[in-house]
Amino acid sequence: MSILVTGGAGYIASHTLVNLLEKGESAVVIDNYDNSSPEALRRVKQLTGKEIKAYEGDACDEELLVRIMHENAVESVIHFAGHKAVGESVQKPLKYYRNNLDSTISLLSAMKRCGVTQLIFSSSATVYYPEDEVPFREDMRLGCINPYGWTKFMNEQIIRDAAKADPDLSCVLLRYFNPVGAHPSGMIGEDPSGIPNNLMPYICQTAVGLRDHLTIFGNDYNTHDGTGVRDYLHVCDLAEGHACAVRYARSHKGVEAINLGTGVGYSVLDMVNAFQKVNNIPVKYVIGPRRPGDLDASYADPSKAERLLGWKATRTLEDMCRDGWNWQSKNPKGYR
Ligand code: NAD
Ligand code: UDP
Repeated sequence: MSILVTGGAGYIASHTLVNLLEKGESAVVIDNYDNSSPEALRRVKQLTGKEIKAYEGDACDEELLVRIMHENAVESVIHFAGHKAVGESVQKPLKYYRNNLDSTISLLSAMKRCGVTQLIFSSSATVYYPEDEVPFREDMRLGCINPYGWTKFMNEQIIRDAAKADPDLSCVLLRYFNPVGAHPSGMIGEDPSGIPNNLMPYICQTAVGLRDHLTIFGNDYNTHDGTGVRDYLHVCDLAEGHACAVRYARSHKGVEAINLGTGVGYSVLDMVNAFQKVNNIPVKYVIGPRRPGDLDASYADPSKAERLLGWKATRTLEDMCRDGWNWQSKNPKGYR
């Protein structure tokens, strides 16, 4: 039996594959390499010494999904595939709704046809109602402020409705907070195309000389130093969270939304200072205006993940900064 990993060459998926393969699971991948490179999968193979069968194709292609499920005795699916750039989703909402919703619908339909009942879905902390008090708990109200966020919200609803209609389904909606860092080997990591939107890759690319300086988006937020606070999570802890969710789905039915975060918030300045200290390298920055739509603070209540999945983040801020820089300095241009 194998686990189908959609978007398997991506940042979080590649780390999850390493974790699963090291645990003796077998995995099969579908990716159209829209935002990734097959090189990531070659490196996963090199790291683990295990084969991964990869199909180049679109996760919206239901017939291809059915074929993959039949050819590989698929038992469960981890659905990472999707577009994820918030800014682009505002400019091109239909591109986001089409890809992110179609892929989930095609997947659920293919699962039904093949009798596959376990689904782990990549959701996001962005589904939480932005004006609510942190920490965010899974039972709090939801609401989004951009099309990317709405695709996560709608996908959660689609999965809930599918599970209501089919009591055999077992689905875990993982709401990630802010994944950062890389595998400690420095062989796989985050490889954003173009100018990074997210803080950590921007810091890394500034440190390596690809960007002149970081712009900190606002220092007048209601936080301990005025810069935005987020719940940064080591991608290897996140990968372990998926392995725990796969295990959970094997022995439970129904749908659970579960936060994957540390429960601790760090500000932008905390991140810049920690990165400089741990890696002994300067990061030039300037303070700029706020980025529209940004919250003062976002961090998780991670207690449900510990209760249901037995999962808790164990890696520190220092680990995140060290491993992120190790990847970036060894691969200044990513997988290219
Ligand atoms: P990523 O872009 O590195 O990985 C996504 C992968 O999906 C890529 O390899 C891409 O080529 C592939 N893909 C996209 N559309 C596809 C399609 N139609 N068919 C086949 N492959 C397709 O992104 P990531 O950071 O690893 O994120 C993985 C998932 O987690 C995404 O769904 C994302 O929205 C979600 N998520 C990410 C973050 C984050 O900060 N990185 C936070 C919360 C949620
Ligand atoms: N941020 C910043 N400069 C950047 C990118 C991000 O100051 O170039 C800030 C952003 O305002 C937020 C934090 O860093 O407070 C995390 O941003 P990111 O986009 O990584 O995650 P998200 O806001 O989606 O949680």
